[in-house]
Formats: sequence, structure tokens, C-alpha cells
Amino acid sequence: MNKYYYAYYKKDEIRNSASGGIGHALAMDVLNKSGIVYGVSYSDDFKSAQYLRINEINKIEKLSGSKYITAEKRMPDGSFVFENVKKDLKDKKLVLFTGLPCEIAALNNYLDRQGIDTEKEKMITVDLICQGPLSSKEQSQYIEFLEKKYKSRLIDFTVRYKNPYWKPVYLKAVFENGKKHIKPLYETDFGRAFLIYGKEGCFHCKYKNENHQADITIGDFWGIKENENGYNKMGTSVVVTHTEKGNDTFKQLANICFGEVTEDKAIDKNSMYGNSREKYSNYATFKSSYLKNDLHKAVFDSRSILSKVKYLLKLLLGLKPY
Ligand SMILES: Cc1cc2nc3c(=O)[nH]c(=O)nc-3n(C[C@H](O)[C@H](O)[C@H](O)COP(=O)(O)OP(=O)(O)OC[C@H]3O[C@@H](n4cnc5c(N)ncnc54)[C@H](O)[C@@H]3O)c2cc1C
Ligand code: SF4
Repeated sequence: MNKYYYAYYKKDEIRNSASGGIGHALAMDVLNKSGIVYGVSYSDDFKSAQYLRINEINKIEKLSGSKYITAEKRMPDGSFVFENVKKDLKDKKLVLFTGLPCEIAALNNYLDRQGIDTEKEKMITVDLICQGPLSSKEQSQYIEFLEKKYKSRLIDFTVRYKNPYWKPVYLKAVFENGKKHIKPLYETDFGRAFLIYGKEGCFHCKYKNENHQADITIGDFWGIKENENGYNKMGTSVVVTHTEKGNDTFKQLANICFGEVTEDKAIDKNSMYGNSREKYSNYATFKSSYLKNDLHKAVFDSRSILSKVKYLLKLLLGLKPY
């Protein structure tokens, strides 16, 4: 039976995590038990994301924070991530795998076809509440656009910058020449595209509510209010445990603060737990412009007239509204 919690990591590393740092706390727990952690990191140029297999604490930071793009399943050495998981399980290692709900379903399906009974193995699967990612094509175009504007190479990038706190969400890009682009995420081209555009399948996602196939689901606890138990200005995660293994793993984590909540409270203001995203009225305009032009032009074309005027004014004032 599902159980619902608020939770956050009590150490400073929470700053690098998307919300309450429970993804990070789970990874630390497994590494402290000499296990293997699979998660998603940006590539060195930040134009794509890929799965990594991590077995050392000093490399874990790369996984913290959400990357709002689909991760490649080929790892840096060219091997297929699910094959590595299979090998680790056959070697009787403890494995933590975090991914999007459809990726966890694909992993379970793959392992099942390989004759591996995931319920019996020492494996914990975690999926994220998911509205659907963009692709590395949109990410590359956005980064190339910024690099051109700042005339410098990007050296750091996050779409979940705490400036200085969890809410509102900021995008932060840092360039080799020392300049920084820090903007509210949903005012940037990337953030607007993330809200409007997505894979067709994400508008009819099969992995919502009871169809989450992971042991644990984590997301942002958007419904928690400032004066309520569990609110943390650096971020609060919502945690749903779907299995006994998931619940036991979560409850013994070190350095976390947590408390049980009702299902209604947990998913209040987070419709993506149970519903697929909707197509906004400007989706078609965005898509047709994007297919003919590029991300920047598509975002501009999908704005209302008033929003276009405001954008152009900000541009004239040198406020870099992209
Ligand atoms: C595309 C996308 C859409 C999301 N939509 C929502 C939403 O609508 N509502 C909501 O509440 N939460 C959403 N989330 C989840 C949210 O952004 C946080 O990831 C979640 O709250 C966990 O935060 P944390 O601080 O506990 O974890 P952290 O400590 O930040 O750990 C994050 C974990 O997520 C994994 N991860 C990061 N990016 C990806 C990726 N692209 N693919 C697979 N795994 C990844 C990392 O490997 C890491 O294990 C989304 C995440 C993604 C990637
Ligand atoms: S919304 Fe559903 S189909 Fe789309 S990436 Fe997320 S889990 Fe996969």
C-alpha cells in the first residue's frame, strides 16, 4: 500500500538538489553500503544528459538536480545502462536506479526478459514525478544561443538554481569569461519551451498514479505551505513509497527530516503525479515555428501580443529576457 511523506535532507548538499534532496540522500545511503548508484548527469558541454554508474561518493554531485531533457541510455563508455544494471545484480551488488517513470518501466521490463526477479534482488528503483522532458536538441539550441550572446563557453548550468531558496525556480548559466545568466526559469526560452513543448507520448503518459512502477516516487512538494510541518525553504520533497522495500529504505535514511501525510496533501498542487500534461493553446504555434525555425523563434512566436511587446521592451533595455 502506498505511503506518502514530506521529506528533506538536513545537510548543506541540499542546495544542489532540485527540491528536498531525497534523490541525493538515497544515493548517499547506497554508496555508504558499498552499492552502485545509477542516475543522470549533464554531458561536459551541458548540451545533453546521460546515465552514469557511480560507485564513489566524490562523484555523486553530478547526479543532483533535475535535467529537464531525456537522458541517453548509452553511458560514457558506450555501454547500455540496463546491461550494466543486469551485471551488477548478477554480481549480487546493491543497486539504486533513479529515472523517469517510463524509464523505470522499461528497466523492469528489460530485467524481467533477462529472467531477473527485481523483487528478490537487492535493487531499489526510484522514479520522479514527471511532466515530460525536452530533448537534447532543444537544450543544445538554447545553450548555443546563450554562448553566442555571452561570447563565451558555458561552464556550468542548472534549471533548478536556488536563488537563494527553492521557490521560485531559477535557471543559472555560468560562462568561461565569468559572466552569469540567472533568470526565473519560466521566463527563459528553455523554461517556456519546457512548459509548452514535449513528446507526444507525454500528453498520454501511462505511468501515473498506481501505474508508477518504482519502489519510491519523489517530486517537489509544491502543496506544502510555509507555516506547515515539513516546509523547508531550501526545498521539500514529496515521497511516495509503493513497496515495503521502498518504504523501509526511505525510513532508515540518515540525515533526513520526514513525516507522513495524507495522499490528498501529498499530491495537492502536483497534478503531474496523477495526470498527463495538457497541450496549451500555443502548442501548435510553437511546434510549427520550431519545425521551420529554431527554439528561440518558436518561443517568441508562441507568445501573446502583450508578451511579445514586453519581451521586446526588455530586450531594448538590455535585460536579456531569454
Ligand atoms: C523531466 C522532468 C520533469 C519533472 N516534472 C516534475 C513535476 O511535474 N512535478 C514534480 O513534483 N517534480 C517533477 N520532476 C522532479 C523534480 O524536478 C525533482 O527531480 C524531484 O523533486 C527530486 O528532487 P530531489 O531534490 O529529491 O532530488 P535530487 O537530489 O536533485 O536528485 C535528482 C535525481 O533525479 C535524477 N534525474 C535528474 N534529471 C533526470 C532526467 N532527465 N532523467 C532521469 N533522471 C533524472 C538524478 O539522477 C537524481 O537521482 C521532474 C523531473 C524531471 C527530470
Ligand atoms: S511524462 Fe510519462 S512518458 Fe513522458 S517522460 Fe515522463 S514518464 Fe515518460
